[in-house]
Amino acid sequence: MAIALFAAVAHKRPYAPPSDLRDAVADASALDALRSAGPVDAPPPAPAAAPRPVDNQFPAAVAPVFDKDVPPELQRQLGQDLAFVGSLTGKKTSPLHGQIFGQMGGPSYLRFFASHIKMVGLYDWDKKPVVACVIPSIEPSKMWLSDSYIKVNQPQIARIMTVFHESRHADPENENWRHVNCPEPFRDANGKDIVSILTGVPLAGKRGCDESELGSYGASLIMLKNIQRYCTNCTEKVRMDAGIYADDQLYRIVDSKARNAIRDDIYK
Ligand SMILES: [Zn+2]
Repeated sequence: MAIALFAAVAHKRPYAPPSDLRDAVADASALDALRSAGPVDAPPPAPAAAPRPVDNQFPAAVAPVFDKDVPPELQRQLGQDLAFVGSLTGKKTSPLHGQIFGQMGGPSYLRFFASHIKMVGLYDWDKKPVVACVIPSIEPSKMWLSDSYIKVNQPQIARIMTVFHESRHADPENENWRHVNCPEPFRDANGKDIVSILTGVPLAGKRGCDESELGSYGASLIMLKNIQRYCTNCTEKVRMDAGIYADDQLYRIVDSKARNAIRDDIYK
């Protein structure tokens, strides 16, 4: 169930540390609540211009066990991404989102992650250019991340999409939501070859498509599309990113019935 979301080309890009400000939710207090409470008599918050403390705190709802060789910065980035997703709020939810995740918002997402992923290991990019994967034959509740998770310059929403795509593979249903080969040729409505949004690699004939609206591509795009439409504390940028990545992933649903189910669910 490996998902090579970022190819070697992207891996070679200069390292750009992800900014925790870039995708910060509009309501900063939501994220503050997830940080360590600190001493009771803590001094007043530092001025806005001061460097922000490194946030390596996982939300209380999730506590995956890391293999010893998973670098601290990788653990920290996953913690930040889950803290961010745990801070999201929304008042509406599409029916398929309700079926897969429950009510739109942080508690649902953290519950979903925690119920699917119990362990995190380090994947060797040099063996295979994979950002994240779940290998059900070894341990279905373990997610493997390669160091490319923190080295590629992608918006936070792309990492979140990856994490929840893989979490869906930890589900034993439908053979862990195994993918099917994309059609050959594989073209969009304008007749252009469909390529990975992240790598530019053509997808025709590759095992990177789904026939169900409930698989890994469907689940993560429904999550992102709900964030785009219904998140009440997201910045414009987060909502825009969520829409871009969700719309792209819709191409990966190659069964017309399944694609129409998603359109009826969240695109009308
Ligand atoms: Zn996958």
